[in-house]
Formats: sequence, structure tokens, C-alpha cells
Amino acid sequence: IQQIDALRRQIEISLKGDAQPPPILEFSNCKFNPKLQDNLTSAGYETPTPVQMQALPAALKGRDVLVSADTGSGKTLAFLLPIISKSCMIRMWHLSERAHPLAIVLAPTRELAAQVEEQAKALAKGLPFKTALVVGGDAMPQQIYRIKNGVELIVGTPGRLIDLLSKHDVSLEDVCMLVLDEVDCMLERGFRDQVMQIVQALYQPQIMLFSATIPPAIESFAATILKQPLLISAGRPS
Ligand code: ADP
Ligand code: MG
Repeated sequence: IQQIDALRRQIEISLKGDAQPPPILEFSNCKFNPKLQDNLTSAGYETPTPVQMQALPAALKGRDVLVSADTGSGKTLAFLLPIISKSCMIRMWHLSERAHPLAIVLAPTRELAAQVEEQAKALAKGLPFKTALVVGGDAMPQQIYRIKNGVELIVGTPGRLIDLLSKHDVSLEDVCMLVLDEVDCMLERGFRDQVMQIVQALYQPQIMLFSATIPPAIESFAATILKQPLLISAGRPS
């Protein structure tokens, strides 16, 4: 325990919450599907960043998390790797016969959503893992067509997903993971009610919040939607 605490201090990670999983030092500790590990290596990701060292094991255990770390610290992989890894397991074990989405990542802007989707596609090359980008501005019929053909992950902005939901064009009954990326920015942009509507459409999902900052509004928001969360902050406390 003391060694784990010392390691966390060294990588400047602080935690709040029960049952804190130890950080990992190597991606190989996560025992990803070999194909996923290959893709990670070929993309040039050799060692996890500090936020990944702590957030990956927590996310893989199925914990609800609120993760705060500076921009550029590698938060995207911290949620995409667990999503891809778990989704592939569900598909390979045929735990769900339908091809309904298993995970949702919401972002505050279309550009950000598009970047996250691109990264997911690159990491999941060769795996049974498809994505759909669901953002305003793009043609809705194509988005619906893609989802109906079967995707594992929906990446999008809240408004467009609500549109699809209200027209019954997407079934979220198999969604078991929800990520809100840049949740500070999402609340600032007034997405709170839309996000709540999406949360309420899901059945007991694992919820992971990612943010550069944790203002009081985020803390109370997290307290309302997360179950026994682990709070992970990277970097020196300011
Ligand atoms: P954040 O969301 O925290 O702002 P990103 O996930 O966008 O950060 O990552 C920032 C940059 O760091 C990206 O260019 C990404 O490819 C790179 N990166 C992320 N994780 C690693 C890693 N483990 N090793 C090397 N580069 C990484
Ligand atoms: Mg980010």
C-alpha cells in the first residue's frame, strides 16, 4: 500500500473514493486483446501517461469515474481503450445477439466528437468494433442508416442524439458505458438537461466523466449521476 501511494505521488495522481485500484505501469498490464495492443503499439503509444495509468484500471473494472487532467494529458485513450476492449469482449462472446450500440461518448462540439471518432476507428482497426458519428449539421439519414447496420460506439453531441432518440431511430438498450468528454465545457454550453435525458434513457450504465477542471458545478453534477465514483486528478493540486 505504501509503495502504491509512493508511486501515485511520483506520477502526481491523487484519488478520492473507495476501493482504489493500483495504477498500471505498462499497457500490457491491461491484458488487451492482442490486436488492440498491436494497434496501440503501431500508433506509437509505448507507455501510458499518468492519467492513463490510473484511469485505465478503474475504467476496466467498471468503475464510475470523474477524471480531471490538463489538456494534452491523454484522456482520450483513457476512455477509448476500455470501451473498445469491453465492446470486443461482448461481441466475441456473443453476449448480445443484436448489434445495438454498447457505448456512447458525448462531446461538447462536433469537431471534438469527430476527432474522438477518428481515434476510435484507428485503434479498433481489424476488430469487431464499428463507430457512428452523430452530430448536428451532418445528414441525419446516413447517421441512422449506419447505426441500424450495427455499431458498437456512438460518438456525438447531445442534441443530435436526443433527436434520434425522440424519433426512435436508435435503440440504447444495450449501452453499458457512457463517457462525457470535456464535461466542464458541456455544462458551460448548457447541455445539462440534454445529458440528463440521455442518462435516463440508459439502463445502469458505467459513467465516466472527463474534464480539464473541476469547478463546483461539475462536482455536484458528478454526485448526482455517478455511483460510488472514483475521483482521479492528475497533476499537482493547485
Ligand atoms: P486530452 O484529451 O487529455 O487533452 P488527448 O487524449 O487529446 O489529451 O492526447 C493528447 C496527445 O497525446 C495526443 O496527440 C495523443 O495522441 C497523445 N498521447 C496520448 N496518450 C499517449 C501515450 N500514452 N503516449 C504517447 N502519446 C500519447
Ligand atoms: Mg480531450
